[in-house]
Amino acid sequence: MAAKIIDGKAISAAVKEQVRAEIERDKIKAGLAVVIVGDDPASRVYVNNKKKACELCGIQSFEYALPAETEQNQLLELIDTLNADKNVNGILVQLPLPDHFDEKAVIERISPLKDVDAFHESNVGKIMIGNYAFLPCTPAGCMELIHSTGVDVAGKECVVIGRSNIVGKPMAMLLLHENGTVTVCHSKTKNLTEVCRRADILVAAVGRPNFVTADMVKDGAVVIDVGINRLENGKLCGDVKFDEVSEKAAYITPVPGGVGPMTIAMLMKNTLTAARIQNS
Ligand code: NDP
Repeated sequence: MAAKIIDGKAISAAVKEQVRAEIERDKIKAGLAVVIVGDDPASRVYVNNKKKACELCGIQSFEYALPAETEQNQLLELIDTLNADKNVNGILVQLPLPDHFDEKAVIERISPLKDVDAFHESNVGKIMIGNYAFLPCTPAGCMELIHSTGVDVAGKECVVIGRSNIVGKPMAMLLLHENGTVTVCHSKTKNLTEVCRRADILVAAVGRPNFVTADMVKDGAVVIDVGINRLENGKLCGDVKFDEVSEKAAYITPVPGGVGPMTIAMLMKNTLTAARIQNS
């Protein structure tokens, strides 16, 4: 039986509408500063999409486009200024930064209260103990998509492929918070196919096109595809071989139109949360 496609576009539109309505109802003044360094075309697309989402939600957006030759100190100084700016509730530095930057030092410079990506060590620690204000946008978006299926995570076998700090690890933590039995796989995992085949909920965050094939998927699983891979023909494709896996799964996210739009919607939600905390 063909899987139901989880419509990330529609769900993200609903999240953004909720943010917009709350901002209007409670007359909240929220601002998001997005810093982009260099001219990576993919980063430019993401930044433009974030700007559009801000407009839609009634969040003021401030864009800082810096040349690739910008020095670390100059970026840190800008972050200090934004940390002190009352009109800015959230700060996002678009990653990856050019090679000469120390990304970790840049992230740590952002005030944890304005860290709407939730990448700062103190926010990561809070997520670990389940006492957080912000969740990292992509894993939080994946959770919304899982919730939309009506499948209860509690007691389910959950497998996350990928253990990056921004996707795989926090994703595993959020599934664990909802009482899933979680396995995290990575490039050294043995018998990956068998491990994945146990999953009631399978999240792929590998960064390899068509990596997850039908033989790795249990009948009736929920499959969340985080991957965004650009093929030689310019087309976007996920980590999951959609055509064959959608014949086996019960629910599946498409790429594009799945996790991607959710990431931006959750960023809007985090910016609203940041504004509420800072204004209270
Ligand atoms: P990373 O490259 O940081 O992590 C990839 C992970 O996949 C690593 O943990 C790696 O293992 C694991 N991996 C690689 N090869 C294999 C393999 N053969 N078998 C098992 N595991 C493997 O990527 P990110 O987490 O940053 O991103 C993952 C994907 O998600 C990318 O396509 C990215 O573009 C996309 N993405 C999408 C977002 C969205 O909004 N939709 C947001 C962020 C990312 P190891 O640790 O051992 O190296």
